[in-house]
Parts: sequence; structure tokens; C-alpha cells
Amino acid sequence: MSNHSCNYLLFRCMDFRLKPSVLNELLEVIGCSEGNFDLVSVAGSAKDLLSERQGEKEFLLKQIELSSKLHHICKVIVLLHDNCGAYGIADKDEEEETQKQDLAKIEKIIKNNFKDIEFDGFIVKNTSTGDLTLKKV
Ligand SMILES: [Zn+2]
Repeated sequence: MSNHSCNYLLFRCMDFRLKPSVLNELLEVIGCSEGNFDLVSVAGSAKDLLSERQGEKEFLLKQIELSSKLHHICKVIVLLHDNCGAYGIADKDEEEETQKQDLAKIEKIIKNNFKDIEFDGFIVKNTSTGDLTLKKV
């Protein structure tokens, strides 16, 4: 059991426009290679860590806990993306600003709950056109 390890846990939105083949190429560039990360794909990515509904938050925390316990991850990577239905913000700049603030809050929650786990946050841009790029936050 102890040799079943990977480096990262990746949170992404379930949105079909974030094509795995395209996304994996971008992730490869930041060192997050296919076969080296656990994957949580849910609406809004890790947004529900900020949910007022305790169950939603706990569901996501449990994924981190299990990924850490079973696969000894050293880092959580959270991808938010533009034009996200879970955010439902029409104005691009307003959406980006909200997502940046959310990533900062998400980082705090993860660090408060998991002392030894690092964090990286990104926003995937150009979801509408399919010409995906990663923006580090
Ligand atoms: Zn989305």
C-alpha cells in the first residue's frame, strides 16, 4: 500500500470545455504530469470549500484528507476557470477578481487543515474559445 504515491491532488471544474487532452498539456508544463495526480472534478472546482453548507465543504476536505493519507500528496493544485457557470458572473474582470479572492481564501482553509500540504492556484483562461491557457494566481 505504501508505494502507491503521487505528488498532487488536482481540483478542476467538471465543465466539458476543459478538455483533458488540452488541460494535461498545460499541467505538464507546471510539472503536474498525467499519472502523478489524484483528480477531483466537480462543478466550480474547489469553490465549495467556501460554501456555507457544511456538507459541501466537508466533502471536499475529505478528498484532500484521503489523497494525503492514501497517496501522500505534497501539494493541492486548484484550477478555477473563466466563464464558469458555478460562478455565474457575466463580467470577465469581476469574475477574475472574485476567483483570485476565492483562491486566497481556499489556500488559507487548506493550510489551516493540512499543515504540511502546499498549495498552487490557477485560473484557466479562454474556456469559451477552447484556446486554453493557465494563469498563475
Ligand atoms: Zn466551471
